[in-house]
Amino acid sequence: MLSRRAFCGCATFAAAFVADHAFAETNPNASQCAVFTRARQQDVSPDQAIERLMAGNARFVAGRTVNCDLMEQVKATAKGQAPFAAVVGCIDSRVPPELVFDQRIGDIFCARIAGNFVNTDIVGSLEFATKVAGARAILVLGHSECGAIKGAIDDVKMGELTATLANIRPAVAATRVDGERSAKNPAMVQAVAETNARMAAARLTTKSAVLKDLVEGGRLRIVAAMHDVSNGHVRLLA
Ligand SMILES: [Zn+2]
Repeated sequence: MLSRRAFCGCATFAAAFVADHAFAETNPNASQCAVFTRARQQDVSPDQAIERLMAGNARFVAGRTVNCDLMEQVKATAKGQAPFAAVVGCIDSRVPPELVFDQRIGDIFCARIAGNFVNTDIVGSLEFATKVAGARAILVLGHSECGAIKGAIDDVKMGELTATLANIRPAVAATRVDGERSAKNPAMVQAVAETNARMAAARLTTKSAVLKDLVEGGRLRIVAAMHDVSNGHVRLLA
């Protein structure tokens, strides 16, 4: 009886192992739940880091986000982190980078500020994320219907927000569109948001010698992208 039970247990274990193994091989989502180690992070090239973000956005848009055990990831990252990428995004509640790119605990650094511009503090944070912590790519994520962009276009003045929006004014000045130069013109709002994301991405290497060295050494890629709040889709800007 004992040996029969032992055999049954063994067979059940073997079946479960085979099932798990088959799951890992056939389910592309399985690897999404493994947390990044330093070695795994450095195996991801800068181009692959961007591809990984965009693949996550494709899952998000398709309604096929990965369901991982987040507390398992909390335990697995408790002693250290090695995120593969960093995202600079807006505080807009409709554009949380971890959700939009279908990423989880330990996967990406996120710097969020109204209007996703980059100032000294954001650049310093990104120098840490890349040079110290090893992230392979930085994606600056602008978005449609951005309230901060609209405020900057209309030169809104209010408390400390006035100084915040001043960071976006250069993008307003650099944008040329047909029609009214006000937040009432959707083409103006979208064009300034794109200009602002491009300028922020470009500014990272003009403002930071650390980031410039990483890019020139092929160890870091920086891109700008736009998120569409009407459909969740992220588009890389050329
Ligand atoms: Zn915004």
